[in-house]
This record gives sequence, C-alpha cells and structure tokens, in this order.
Amino acid sequence: MYRQSVPAPRRYVTDAIVLSRFDYGEADRILTLITPGAGKIKAIAKGIRRQKSRIGGSLEPFAELRVALAQGRTFEVVTQVDVVHPWLNLRDDLVSFGTASYLAELANGTLEEHHAAESVYVMLKRAYEILDAGMASGRVARWFEMHLADELGVRPEVDRCVECGRLLEADERYRWMPPLGGVLCERCPGPPFERAGLSLEALKLLKAYQRQDVEALAALRVRPAVEREVEMAMREFLAYSLDRRPRSLAFLDEVRASGAADVAAAVPVAPVG
Ligand SMILES: [Zn+2]
Repeated sequence: MYRQSVPAPRRYVTDAIVLSRFDYGEADRILTLITPGAGKIKAIAKGIRRQKSRIGGSLEPFAELRVALAQGRTFEVVTQVDVVHPWLNLRDDLVSFGTASYLAELANGTLEEHHAAESVYVMLKRAYEILDAGMASGRVARWFEMHLADELGVRPEVDRCVECGRLLEADERYRWMPPLGGVLCERCPGPPFERAGLSLEALKLLKAYQRQDVEALAALRVRPAVEREVEMAMREFLAYSLDRRPRSLAFLDEVRASGAADVAAAVPVAPVG
C-alpha cells in the first residue's frame, strides 16, 4: 500500500452573509454562511472566542463580509474576514433587527448546502440594505417572502383562481387557500368566506409585492389592517408551501406587541359616547 499525497486545501475568497452561528468547543464557532457562488456553506472559525482573535468581532450576522476560506473536510475554515457593509442602522431598532433575523432564518431553512443561490444572496443583501436605510420592516419582509417563494418555485397565485383558472375580477369575493397555492374564486366550492376570506385590498397588495420594485412598494399607502391581513396570509402560505414556521417570528411578534402597547399608552383614548 502506498499513501496518497494529500493536496493542500483549496483557498478562496468570497462575499458572504452570516445566516446563523453557534459556539463549538472551547473557543470555536460554527457559522452558516450564504455566498453568491457556493450557496449555503458551513464554516468553522477557530479560536474566535479568544480575546486576541483577529477575526472575532467581524464575523457578525446582518453584515456583508469578505471571507477567506480554506476547504476543510467537514467545514470550510475561516482564515480572514473583512466587513464590506456593516449595516449598523438596522441593528438599532428591535423590529428591523428581528426582521433581519427572520429573513436570515427563512433563507437558512429553505436553501440546501452547496447549491448555487446567487439570486437569494442578492435578495438578502438588498433586504438588509433597505432595512438599514429605514424602509418599513413589514414591507421589506413581505417583499423578501414573496420573492423567495418565487425563487423556490412556489409563487402564490393571485391573478387566477387556483381551482378553475378563471381570471379573478375586482367585483367578486376571494378566499386565501395556501394548501391550493393561492386565491380561490367565489364560484368554486370551498370553505366559507368568513373563515378564509381575503379582501380586495389585500389581494391588490399581494399583487403589488409580486410586481413592483422595492422603491414603489416603499411609497404605497396601505391601511395597517390590510398590511396585517397580507402578513398573516403570507405567513400561512409559507408555513404550507415551505413547511416553515420560523422561530424568530415569535421574537418579532413580541417586540412589535410591546411597541404597540407603548404607542397605545402614549395616545389618550377618546371617551366613548
Ligand atoms: Zn374558481
């Protein structure tokens, strides 16, 4: 028997965003990264939790990094990190921070390792840019959800009835049917409208998320109740089509509930009658 020579590990440099991380061993950390070229990859940062670690502070989520990696057997090994876009503003606000976590969790949960995911990378980067620029978190989240669903081949049908294929008209009633992939018209049999009904305004907003670019979406004026309706519709849709109920949603809901309570407390309530 002869021993095969072991080739030196391949080294490469890539842009990356941290999707998740956990501590490993005494001082290491294992990271899940999304990269434009290699898709989702796992990498280990050795000694990162030691005080003198060179790369310690820069391997944070919600930033675009340039990472030097050496190919390892189980994980890539991080050898150097530079922060390209720190997106510091989005961390200042708990709702945008929670939204950023949610989007990372969605991407992490739906991508397979080592499958090219350039479009998802570009979407996540764009989402963080616009969160950082102060766009309403809910708009960014819906835009990302809608386009991620599209990328994953589960675009919700909002133009035609999912059952009979008829073009939906503006003067009828609709039902939101995630198990069927979108909107059910009023002529087709299905659950009662009180239970599954979708308003015309919500249908229009869903269409807008499919068709309009981010700048146009930022400028839309929509009643909060309609935003909420679409949020719940998309949440239900992703739960069905991607089998995902991200844990970070609980955090996000909690933060927003406490924020809403504060606002309500600050506004004097007019006496009834
Ligand atoms: Zn129909």
